[in-house]
Amino acid sequence: MKAAFIYSDDFSRFSYGSGHPLKPFRLKLTYELIKACGLLAPDDPRVIVPVPAKREDLLAFHSAEYIGMLEASNSGKELPGATVYGLGEGDNPVFPGMFDWSLLVAGASLMAADLVDSGEAGIAFNISGGLHHAQANRASGFCYINDPVLAIMLLVRRGRRVAYIDIDAHHGDGVQAAFYDSDRVLTISLHETGQTLFPGTGFERETGEGKGKGYSVNIPLPPEAGDELFVKAFTEALPPRVERFRPDVIVSQLGVDTFRSDPLAHLNVTTEGFCTLVRMIKSLAPKWVALGGGGYDTTNVARAWTLAWAIMNDVQAPDEIPPSFLKQFVGPGFPGNKLRD
Ligand SMILES: [Zn+2]
Repeated sequence: MKAAFIYSDDFSRFSYGSGHPLKPFRLKLTYELIKACGLLAPDDPRVIVPVPAKREDLLAFHSAEYIGMLEASNSGKELPGATVYGLGEGDNPVFPGMFDWSLLVAGASLMAADLVDSGEAGIAFNISGGLHHAQANRASGFCYINDPVLAIMLLVRRGRRVAYIDIDAHHGDGVQAAFYDSDRVLTISLHETGQTLFPGTGFERETGEGKGKGYSVNIPLPPEAGDELFVKAFTEALPPRVERFRPDVIVSQLGVDTFRSDPLAHLNVTTEGFCTLVRMIKSLAPKWVALGGGGYDTTNVARAWTLAWAIMNDVQAPDEIPPSFLKQFVGPGFPGNKLRD
């Protein structure tokens, strides 16, 4: 399966604000580490530059009122009534270019879905995507636009059956809600229990409704689960359900806030557990749209998604982070020179 890497340096043009945990710079850091490890050439044909989505594309899922507010807030000035849509100080700040950022991320995920569906690529990886908490009419959990939902909707409109697999530390609530009554989309989320972590949902009893009954699967884990439980829970729950559903495409959210040094969650996972899951998703996917997600220790993000990209290409990543990379990007604070934990 040929893999495509959807990327633009424009991703890192945006900032949620200096104190905010979500740092778009982590995307550039990832791309640079992948290149430094020899897993992409400087002018590699596998790199596809995303085209921003159009306003209308967002309306496939989001309400016109909410999109209107996002667009009007693009200057970075908070408007009266913004808080109704979840915008304002805290998780979802109003920052300059926030609508442009949303269009770019959504466009990148729509492009990934199209590349895979058209057969141009077997796998497409959009590290900027996976913003799984956004709801139809409000921002939530650092997510303004729900790019996984938009990508899945594109595939469903083309008649595809889609399995969505979310391994972020947080429950993929926005995606689950969008397809809760659908039997065309199987959503599976493995996450830290809502008893201890945002957004406080994702319990086993949430299984879908109407035609969608049985098509939402939740696997909550206790804090400090570690690799062993993380892998065991996934191995038991996932392959039989995916095989029974027989998807045409898998869309996955590969958040890495599950890692032991992540400042926001507590799952205590390492690169080994993460890579085991990524390999399993690959083995189950006839076609694969891979998205990024959470990850608030930027060094984990760069290392984990570099390893994921190697798996997607069936190549071995090196053990050591190249000194050239460390020299150039040592600022973000790499703890050592090893790619794996
Ligand atoms: Zn998360």
